[in-house]
Amino acid sequence: METHILDAPWRPLTDNGMGYLSVYFSEPLARWPVREITRPGDNKSDPNTETGTYGLFSTCEPSMRNRIVKDGAATIFFLTTRKKYQGRVLSGYYKIGWYTEGTQGAINNDYALAAAALRFIDPIRVVNLPGPLSAICSTPFRTMKPIGEEPTRALTDICNQLPDLTDEYIHEVDRIERFARARSGYAYPSWGRETGFSWNDARDYYQVDLDLSKVPNSSKNQRWRCRNCLYVIRSGALLKKCPLCKGMATLVPAEEGA
Ligand SMILES: [Zn+2]
Repeated sequence: METHILDAPWRPLTDNGMGYLSVYFSEPLARWPVREITRPGDNKSDPNTETGTYGLFSTCEPSMRNRIVKDGAATIFFLTTRKKYQGRVLSGYYKIGWYTEGTQGAINNDYALAAAALRFIDPIRVVNLPGPLSAICSTPFRTMKPIGEEPTRALTDICNQLPDLTDEYIHEVDRIERFARARSGYAYPSWGRETGFSWNDARDYYQVDLDLSKVPNSSKNQRWRCRNCLYVIRSGALLKKCPLCKGMATLVPAEEGA
């Protein structure tokens, strides 16, 4: 990973010892709770375990990414719900070591994050975590929640004491992508994307346009117009790359009558 970082516009992030809990949609077809690659109309690319990045390829969680860059709370713990009756599970963490502006730029709080260390584990139900950690992780919250130094250290220790299954998760990502491609011709149909992600794709996603404007991260009718090819596409989330002309940072909400 370090060679990819040295090679590109990444800046080091100083870790203040604190962290965030981050909720993501996980893949119902997968053996391990990788992101929901097959989510209809809104295929997920984060957490991008295979590159150890977050927000490089997607527009997920811009406010958390922005906050991490500003406050240095560098550890992201990933929580997801697999089966409703189990509640949320803890699947692993990233310790962010670097950041760079994403395609939508600082004006849109769009920072890509890269992990200096990461570890994914056999998921633990948060209700089974010891002592106060259970309450901290079980209290209902949406999308993300900042946590202090003590729980950050304790959750990191718990993950580090369990076998490192990161490679298993990465294999699972690859398996689900191949499954999706066999079914539709695309690994990520809502992106018009045939293949998975690697560091070879990263350079397309660094911020280069100095003339960016503020773009809403959501579209009420899930329709987006490309300023480049002018087509309107459907997607649950703002995409960084136009699925048709492959232009970067060209999509804007296509509201009714616009
Ligand atoms: Zn386009």
